[in-house]
Amino acid sequence: MNYITPDNLKDALNFLACHGEDTEIVAGGTDVMIDLRAGKLEQKKNLLDIRNLAELKGIDFKDEKLFIGAGVTLTEINRSDTIKKYAPALVKCSTTFAGRQIRNRATIGGNVAHSSPCGDTIPPLVIHEAVALIANKTGEKLIPVEAIASGPYQSSLSKDSIIVKFILKPCRANFTDFQKIGRRKELAVSRMSMAIMADKDEQGRISFIRVSLGACTPIPQRMDEVEQFLMGKIPTQDLIWDAGKILAEKMAGVTGRRASSVYKEPAVQGLFMRILYPVVL
Ligand SMILES: Cc1cc2nc3c(=O)[nH]c(=O)nc-3n(C[C@H](O)[C@H](O)[C@H](O)COP(=O)(O)OP(=O)(O)OC[C@H]3O[C@@H](n4cnc5c(N)ncnc54)[C@H](O)[C@@H]3O)c2cc1C
Repeated sequence: MNYITPDNLKDALNFLACHGEDTEIVAGGTDVMIDLRAGKLEQKKNLLDIRNLAELKGIDFKDEKLFIGAGVTLTEINRSDTIKKYAPALVKCSTTFAGRQIRNRATIGGNVAHSSPCGDTIPPLVIHEAVALIANKTGEKLIPVEAIASGPYQSSLSKDSIIVKFILKPCRANFTDFQKIGRRKELAVSRMSMAIMADKDEQGRISFIRVSLGACTPIPQRMDEVEQFLMGKIPTQDLIWDAGKILAEKMAGVTGRRASSVYKEPAVQGLFMRILYPVVL
């Protein structure tokens, strides 16, 4: 394979405009190297390394929006005071993401573009209503993060395009969290993950809520039914338990009932109770 290392985004996009179909983009390479060794990239002639593109770096907050470059690594997310302030659930997600070596290489752009249902950064991005800035040779467009995956491990991105950055609405709630369940406590791929943002008004009613479920549906999504069920209500343990049941039913509705449903449906309900319990207190 040819290994191409463009110096800037323009050169990278020009290359993809001519050779996109034969090219695999590589950022941190933590997914690409596995695919390469598994023989999944045999059709490709080129690896386009985007690690040096300055346009994909940087974390910034301006005009009430949080900007995170697609080339920002999970370690950089973990260490960023700006992300800690405006998107703490994303920082929380980075603490349980793989191990240190992988976090040093893995990028947020690669995590989203890989379109794995288990991609840990996606639920936190979804609760922040994140959009991705996508560029190709002819221009740029914004698309919601949840529209990037068209199916498990299938990206809707055209072969001539690159995710440049993500634009997030800042956290506007007193309570936000990310939790995941894996087969073990460390170095585990998510079997289930959840990100939430919630707030209460002066009467103690839920006045703002965002819920996103990961690793349970083929394509990441916001759980609007649960949000609507909880809005305007005083959160009690019973209410959260009932909302968790709606969440489990929504998941089963999307995926159909499977052998794993016996475990997953109560686990979703339990995880929802665990993550939202501090809002009851
Ligand atoms: C041991 C191990 C543990 C892991 N643990 C976790 C975990 O806990 N949670 C988790 O979510 N994932 C985990 N992963 C998966 C992986 O690390 C992540 O998906 C990572 O974020 C991918 O980023 P990358 O920069 O390495 O992407 P790469 O491997 O470089 O690329 C992944 C895909 O995205 C495309 N791509 C990359 N950047 C862009 C861009 N800017 N624009 C368009 N396309 C792009 C590439 O062409 C490729 O198809 C793990 C992997 C390993 C090997």
